[in-house]
Amino acid sequence: MVTRTKDSNRSRYSAYRFLVQTAAFLVILLNPFANYYLGVNFVQGWYQSLGIGKLWFVSPLEGIESILVSKLIYLPLLIGMAIPVLLALFLGRVFCGWICPINYLSEIIDRFRRFLFRKRFIKDWFVLPKYLLWFALIGELVLTMVLGAPIFVWLSPPGLVGREIMMAVFFRTLAVEGVVVLMVLTMNLVTRRFYCRYLCPLGGLLAFLGSRRKLVVARKEPVCKECGMCSKVCPLGLDPLNGESRASYCWNCGECVDICPDRTLGFAWRTRPMEDFILHQAQSDSRPRDESE
Ligand code: SF4
Ligand code: SF4
Repeated sequence: MVTRTKDSNRSRYSAYRFLVQTAAFLVILLNPFANYYLGVNFVQGWYQSLGIGKLWFVSPLEGIESILVSKLIYLPLLIGMAIPVLLALFLGRVFCGWICPINYLSEIIDRFRRFLFRKRFIKDWFVLPKYLLWFALIGELVLTMVLGAPIFVWLSPPGLVGREIMMAVFFRTLAVEGVVVLMVLTMNLVTRRFYCRYLCPLGGLLAFLGSRRKLVVARKEPVCKECGMCSKVCPLGLDPLNGESRASYCWNCGECVDICPDRTLGFAWRTRPMEDFILHQAQSDSRPRDESE
């Protein structure tokens, strides 16, 4: 499944991902103009609740919040949540890696920083335990129940990006909550994807749903010089060679696959139970190495 070009023999997932992210961003950027100036309403909303024709997609966390607050389960809401939930179950946090406007804007900032400072890798200054993401998810759900208010519907950074664009086009103004987006993007200067790593309840929910996902990044070839480039490039600070690309946190972005000079890493479909898969990986990891490695 690893796509390689003939000339460089390297995969190009980062480039494909950037194209997908750009297309996804253009949808929420251009759509308010189409709605307001042209009266074309084929696409409506943004990445909290997005309608394409008769098809509606609802962000799973916002859907759960609505159920918790209203204490009602609507069938249309469940149908709207179904595709994002299935996507997360099979592919993990791909919304985060390939669609979310917060990650897209963060990537643009990363590219700018690399260009400005002529550095291939960006240092993370402040690293916390990864399990904080679970506290963010549980804390957000408890707060929603205690306050009886859908916190993430109002303050979701990915949702706020779309809402601010809509506000600007429809009402020529910006909502004050937009400052949350600026804060989240500023956190990237301390640690790449600080908010996504530790604080985003939606990222936490998608990670939870994708904990037994089918698509993972795994070691495909035994050859590895242990140069460490895969862990340096990972925007989430994961160590793919030590199995962290198979953990719930990984969002299948493919950065580590692209950078690996030995083509050791690749996307793989997990067809066996988790334990079996890990055992297989551990066996290939402990295989005796060629001296030339
Ligand atoms: S963790 Fe949250 S903000 Fe980050 S990419 Fe995922 S949904 Fe977007
Ligand atoms: S481990 Fe690899 S695929 Fe997963 S988030 Fe990190 S760079 Fe992306």
